[in-house]
Amino acid sequence: MNKLTITNLSKTYPNGVKALDDVTIEIENGIFGLLGPNGAGKSSLMRTLATLQEADSGSASLGDIDIINQPSELRKVLGYLPQEFGVYPRITAKQLLDHMAILKGIVKASERKEVVNYLLDKVNLFDKRNKSVKSFSGGMKQRVGIAQALIGEPKLIIVDEPTAGLDPGERNRFYNLLADVGKEVVVILSTHIVDDVRELCTKMAIMNFGRIVYQGSPQSAIEEL
Ligand code: ADP
Ligand code: ADP
Repeated sequence: MNKLTITNLSKTYPNGVKALDDVTIEIENGIFGLLGPNGAGKSSLMRTLATLQEADSGSASLGDIDIINQPSELRKVLGYLPQEFGVYPRITAKQLLDHMAILKGIVKASERKEVVNYLLDKVNLFDKRNKSVKSFSGGMKQRVGIAQALIGEPKLIIVDEPTAGLDPGERNRFYNLLADVGKEVVVILSTHIVDDVRELCTKMAIMNFGRIVYQGSPQSAIEEL
């Protein structure tokens, strides 16, 4: 069982904005929803956990790994789908995943081929593998994004606002995929869409002005709202 523990994490940007204000959360296997309006601090928390930016104070750990002091250890077991997943214009889904597999340290070509084909199949894009990612719909791009986040059997998957801009059909397909992924690892999903949390999450927190203002089950939160 993996466990992500976030303790008293705070961050103030140089412009004086306090994006994280004493954030404490404990997360076990499954999909944890982080709900909050734009500007609440969700991306700041996600980037900190993904070791892309530093906090001013506080600690965070995944199992035995100290995320703040052992960022390179965390990166080995991290899958990250950023809010704006940058994709390369004229590259196919297969090529994109192959490049990401190299970056994750899978050097053997035969091993990469196996991983890439498996993931293309998992996200239902195998028959589109030789098409340019640029030509994909929003939903298809997000599924490629999840596939790249799954390379290397991560223990922690961070998805930042993954359903923004998706139509209801695409969103449903993405939900199914994420629900499948969430059975095996810790997934944190940030969103400002209440339905995302209602559909997918067993536990959640609500964030506003950098603070956690609710933590518990989606049912009791939604009853309160
Ligand atoms: P969310 O993801 O919930 O929209 P963010 O973490 O992006 O929230 O932003 C939280 C607050 O921090 C906002 O007020 C935002 O304007 C500010 N902010 C985010 N990134 C930076 C930055 N690099 N420098 C200064 N302020 C920032
Ligand atoms: P989007 O998912 O972005 O709405 P489409 O509905 O056009 O895009 O689907 C693109 C392709 O992805 C389909 O032609 C199909 O091959 C594949 N696909 C999407 N979802 C599924 C699914 N649940 N099962 C099987 N194939 C799927």
